[in-house]
Amino acid sequence: MEKLIHYPMVIGAELVATGSEDLIDPASGTAFATVASGSKADVESAVAAAKAAQLGWAALSYGERCAAMMKFADALEAKSEELAHLESKNAGKALKLTVNSDIPFSIDNIRYFAGVARRQEGAAAGEYVGGYTSMLRREPIGVVGAITPWNYPLMMAVWKIAPAIAAGNAVVLKPAPNTPATTIELAKIALESGLPAGLINIVTGGAEVGEALCTHPDIGMISFTGSTRTGRRIAELASPMIKRVTLELGGKAPFVVFADADIEAAAQGAVVGVYVNSGQDCTAATRIYVQDDVYDQFLARFTELSKQVKVGDPFADGTDIGPLSSQAHWHKVKGYVEEAKEQGIEVITCGTVPAEGFYFPVTILVDPPQTANCVQEEIFGPVAVVKRFSTEAEAVMLANDTPYGLAGSCWTLNVQRAMRMAKAMQCGTVWINDHLAIGSEMPHGGFKQSGIGKDLSHYALEEYTVVKHVLIDITGDQRKGWHFTTFGDA
Ligand code: NAD
Repeated sequence: MEKLIHYPMVIGAELVATGSEDLIDPASGTAFATVASGSKADVESAVAAAKAAQLGWAALSYGERCAAMMKFADALEAKSEELAHLESKNAGKALKLTVNSDIPFSIDNIRYFAGVARRQEGAAAGEYVGGYTSMLRREPIGVVGAITPWNYPLMMAVWKIAPAIAAGNAVVLKPAPNTPATTIELAKIALESGLPAGLINIVTGGAEVGEALCTHPDIGMISFTGSTRTGRRIAELASPMIKRVTLELGGKAPFVVFADADIEAAAQGAVVGVYVNSGQDCTAATRIYVQDDVYDQFLARFTELSKQVKVGDPFADGTDIGPLSSQAHWHKVKGYVEEAKEQGIEVITCGTVPAEGFYFPVTILVDPPQTANCVQEEIFGPVAVVKRFSTEAEAVMLANDTPYGLAGSCWTLNVQRAMRMAKAMQCGTVWINDHLAIGSEMPHGGFKQSGIGKDLSHYALEEYTVVKHVLIDITGDQRKGWHFTTFGDA
């Protein structure tokens, strides 16, 4: 039998190949590579390497750090085709998504953070207390522990690593156990590009490795993307040491279509919004609410377009979406659809899928009750829920009626309505007449149980720094100070 390629951990300058777990190709259900299995001891070594690297890295000027990160981005770009293929193989993503979006956007994110760190924001230095000048510093936290999910493996790693290192931190990152390949390649490319050994360390494994990061005394911050359930556990583990935490958690995005919208545009937007990445997207348009007058028209066109989505081999020409990322996840998605059937909800299955691998057909659940699990919980598959509503007030109520608040969209040609909806929708991103678009410069992060803190933008950069107030005597009278005799006498 052909020997499978092995992905090692990256700790300091070392590639650590201990242990071996199979990595499964979701398109075939068979192993295509193996990965090292990390332990608490590997977390110890990685944190030590990160601590050693961080001081020297933070001592560089912003310009020097920027130049090093730009070289890193260039080195990734030179290997972008390879990275796109590997991401598609490991995560089952359609090649057109990794080639056109995941990889180039990740590289843009690194370039953005390299540049934006040179322009720190804060109050002007000045005399806020008589006799003293105040100034602000933004200090790095030190070592950041990062934990990422399997749906956008490389991009989620970059969303943690780029702002963290731009701010002067070092990182120990644990990727999801089933999709570590491109994250490991990223760390190897970082070393080759000249970034210091120990600045980016990758320890592979599952919850045990993640928990070791959350409880390590030398890690000052945990930056997590994943489910709300795991987010709660991470907040709990980080709290005894008052570690800083950013949590990018689940979503159940509403997609609200008013009768005055461009219905064709809305139907096309919904198809991409809900099925992109096989629906394994935290901002996916999973709850489509359509106003009574256009409900039948929208549902008919949306169903017609859904039937045209091509589910198949991630590498084949014309494939829109690939398989789900693991067998366990396939069973979870299937469970939601079976439950909906048992509850008497109409299920429209669009097209067929290959028999091998973890493929799931594009599916529409028609007008389920708002309280049904398929409306309230993340399905995280190519499964759309389409429901009707009557008034704007009802649309707001329904859109906000889940524990999540990551993103949502509103479709209308009435500008006043659009402005009212943008204000009323309780989510971190509101799109008007679009769904999904994001840029490096704008923040991404949720309201409610979708999380705490932001990825992307200068808001993310700030998450990875601590603000320090420096107060400097400008009178030259070293003894004026604070005397108990004068304190409060005025
Ligand atoms: P998950 O919570 O199961 O796992 C995420 C990561 O946490 C993995 O690396 C996993 O190994 C690790 N982990 C699991 N248990 C842990 C523990 N006890 N301690 C420390 N680490 C632990 O999530 P997932 O299934 O990999 O990813 C899908 C979820 O991610 C969805 O809920 C999705 O909405 C969310 N997501 C959110 C965003 C966002 O920006 N808000 C982006 C992408 C994905």
